[in-house]
Amino acid sequence: MEKNTYSMFNISDEIIKLSSEVENEINEQVKKIDEVALFNQAKVLKAFNEAKLSQMHFGKTTGYGYDDIGRETIEKIYAKIFKAEDALVRIGFVNGTHTLATALRACLMPNDRLLAISGKPYDTLCEVIGINQNPLSLISYGVKYSQIDLDDRGNIKIDEVCEFLKSNDVKMIHIQRSKGYAIRKSIEIDDIKKAIFKIREIKKDIIIMVDNCYGEFVEEKEPVEVGADLVCGSLIKNIGGGLCEIGGYIVGKQKYIKLCSEILTCPGIGKECGATLGQNKNILQGLFMAPSTVKNAMKSAIFASRIFEKMGYEVYPKYSEKRSDIVQAIKFGNEKDLVAFIQKIQELSPVDSHVVPYPWEMPGYSNKVIMAAGTFVEGASIELSADSPIREPYVAYMQGALTYESAKLAICYAASSIEKGE
Ligand SMILES: *Cc1c(COP(=O)(O)O)cnc(C)c1O
Repeated sequence: MEKNTYSMFNISDEIIKLSSEVENEINEQVKKIDEVALFNQAKVLKAFNEAKLSQMHFGKTTGYGYDDIGRETIEKIYAKIFKAEDALVRIGFVNGTHTLATALRACLMPNDRLLAISGKPYDTLCEVIGINQNPLSLISYGVKYSQIDLDDRGNIKIDEVCEFLKSNDVKMIHIQRSKGYAIRKSIEIDDIKKAIFKIREIKKDIIIMVDNCYGEFVEEKEPVEVGADLVCGSLIKNIGGGLCEIGGYIVGKQKYIKLCSEILTCPGIGKECGATLGQNKNILQGLFMAPSTVKNAMKSAIFASRIFEKMGYEVYPKYSEKRSDIVQAIKFGNEKDLVAFIQKIQELSPVDSHVVPYPWEMPGYSNKVIMAAGTFVEGASIELSADSPIREPYVAYMQGALTYESAKLAICYAASSIEKGE
């Protein structure tokens, strides 16, 4: 039976054998993932019940979108789940970068200083901040920027951060939970907690923002619970559960959410406007699915990690290491194998499997990027996807899968093709 399944995609006997070995080895991790998913599902369900979610919230508004009760309920539910004072959950956010840019622009005025303490922020933020030149960047507006890199083991250099805060006036701190296009580990909630505690000892009212992209529902806690003021993310990643078609969220302190809403829309309008065009049901049903979808993504990540490790590749993280995001990095070391892996993942995608991805100049990125994204929602990286900037050390970043089964087939297929040298 098993063999027949795999033979539909010409997966080799060696990889079939390896796959079943790997599934035995990852058992213990899978159990932990199941427990976290159960806890997060309970959290989501409880929030839905408390908000008395009902059919009427799935309705559609157009135009200004005044009194959109569905939108208001969504924001109440997000605030509950994240244990935040307030939330801004909007289809007007075009992506995760837009939420982060909104939070930064809402809080920083000319001469204020932003300090990034988990190293260089995600590629697309470099132009927002002005690390890469743009006439509308924060730096162009007179915001000052400083950065403290992670140490060799991927930890926040908290002592250095504290020293910096003592001798500089810093308005806002940026922490990125997920690895982005870097082979560092993701930053665990517990480590974010420790860092925030030390920072607050020195400067109580500093604004701490966490880039939560790829992090939602990977652990039992989220960054607001350990003291973050603003937490941002994309609805076409974890929290959208694969059903959201567009959007982003910011949760946190009410006074900052108000500022964010006035940057997203306009001063004086803020959260009051924003038609939802019939997307409320997708946002809510996606949120309901998200703990389970993230579970599938996590299982797929550790499965890929172990299989490629056994094939002799460096993988980050290893299957048994603790994780705070859904991203699995596999180092190929050269452009050819990296591109081959990504193309193979595309070949076993549900959408556009016949299309071959090539590296291209993506807006917001300074290197060429190749992406396997055979997804129902364009670019949704909670669906199985693999991407990489074309630069040393040629690492594929794989994430997602709506179902573990589809990821398992695609990973085995890619592994099999690479093993055969196809
Ligand atoms: C995906 C991601 C973002 C935002 O990317 P968008 O494509 O704009 O949604 C920001 N930070 C990190 C760490 C990410 O993984």
